[in-house]
Amino acid sequence: MTPAPELELADGARIPQLGFGLYKVPATDATALALAAIRAGYRHLDTAAFYDNEAEVGRAVREAEVARNDLFVTSKVWKDDNGFDATLRAFDASMARFGLDALDLYLIHWPVPSTDLYVDTWRALVRLQAEGRVRSIGVSNFHVHHVDRIVAETGVAPVVNQVELHPWLPQRALREDHAARGIRVEAWSPLARGRVLEDPTLAGIAARHGRSPAQVVLRWHMEQGVIAIPKASSPPRLRENLDVFDFALDDADAAAIAALESGTRTGRDPDLD
Ligand code: NDP
Repeated sequence: MTPAPELELADGARIPQLGFGLYKVPATDATALALAAIRAGYRHLDTAAFYDNEAEVGRAVREAEVARNDLFVTSKVWKDDNGFDATLRAFDASMARFGLDALDLYLIHWPVPSTDLYVDTWRALVRLQAEGRVRSIGVSNFHVHHVDRIVAETGVAPVVNQVELHPWLPQRALREDHAARGIRVEAWSPLARGRVLEDPTLAGIAARHGRSPAQVVLRWHMEQGVIAIPKASSPPRLRENLDVFDFALDDADAAAIAALESGTRTGRDPDLD
């Protein structure tokens, strides 16, 4: 299978454009599923302290028949650990669970504006990067105004913002802003948790290309230039989701998918926390 291409981040690191997301993968399944993903050709794993499977993901990375340097591992500091010292402690705890020397990407999971700690959290990530404990640092669920604030107060921009993004919520304004400032956008719930796949428009496009609706949506993500991290629970689905690099959508497909925009979120608006 054609491997996912790598995109360059503003700090010079490279990230595989399609990864495997492990939210709601039970710890009991996570090592086997992460190893199946790596065998299928995935080189990018997305987890978080909140997902309760860092130890199992770390074990898969250590046991994989692929060199550590060829794998890209992301984790995130959870809401309850926002704040400078709490984030440093949370990072240590994550790394102890992973059993890895360094992480490829560490994200602030949610800004939680009501606690007003995300700038301090960001300062902790800047420190961890300076210490060489994490290669790249970024944010998740940040609106443009949250990004503006951390940049204004620290002078350091995130290289990635991982946000909810799928055909219903294409995040046009955020993507345009981030493209201009060199911040890569990463799509979480790229399939809208599977819900968008029932849309008849996607079924029609899929039938014309001899592909599945999931492949059409993931191909759309790749053509938008965003990073996507679909979750799947079986090796056949993992393979299906990675098999999107040998066909292309045409202008009519792109227009039909653009028309699906409804603003529907499957998750929370980050400003409501
Ligand atoms: P996705 O959009 O990836 O959808 C996953 C759902 O789609 C699952 O129910 C899965 O079923 C189904 N599915 C996957 N592939 C196919 C397929 N080929 N055909 C039909 N159905 C399919 O949603 P997630 O919410 O899991 O998001 C993906 C990742 O994004 C997470 O795992 C996590 O890493 C990240 N994330 C980050 C968040 C953040 O706040 N930063 C929030 C939410 C997610 P099944 O599992 O049964 O195979």
